Amino acid sequence: MAPHTPHFEAAARRVPPLAEARVMRAYAGVRDLTPDYHGILSEAPGLAGFYVACGFSGHGFMHAPAIGLLMAELILDGRARSMDVAPMALGRFACGGGAVEANIF
Ligand SMILES: Cc1cc2nc3c(=O)[nH]c(=O)nc-3n(C[C@H](O)[C@H](O)[C@H](O)COP(=O)(O)OP(=O)(O)OC[C@H]3O[C@@H](n4cnc5c(N)ncnc54)[C@H](O)[C@@H]3O)c2cc1C
Repeated sequence: MAPHTPHFEAAARRVPPLAEARVMRAYAGVRDLTPDYHGILSEAPGLAGFYVACGFSGHGFMHAPAIGLLMAELILDGRARSMDVAPMALGRFACGGGAVEANIF
């Protein structure tokens, strides 16, 4: 029996055999969103030596190599040299947050 959701019911109206379709397997994945939809990459304010790299929403896989490089620079050199990561600092939320990204989620 197909799940009773508005999406399945709408799909089955268009393609009637879908009414008999079954869900074979499913999984849940967390999309970690920040208030401005940008990731966090910084040392935590007031917590020396505690580094944060998270909040990458639906693009964390593709950003992973850059995130790893920038985080290594932050930890080893005290600042990211490959690009300016100041807009990704955790502390931005205490100051009202950064520029909200409208084109990704
Ligand atoms: C459905 C879906 C589709 C996506 N598609 C894409 C895509 O096409 N392209 C793309 O670039 N990105 C995609 N993403 C986003 C990408 O998966 C994430 O941005 C990325 O995995 C985040 O990596 P992460 O290391 O920050 O966190 P995670 O990959 O979530 O890793 C966190 C780890 O910490 C573990 N953990 C949590 N709490 C604890 C604890 N207390 N103790 C020990 N371990 C703990 C978790 O089990 C997990 O293994 C998708 C995400 C989802 C949900």
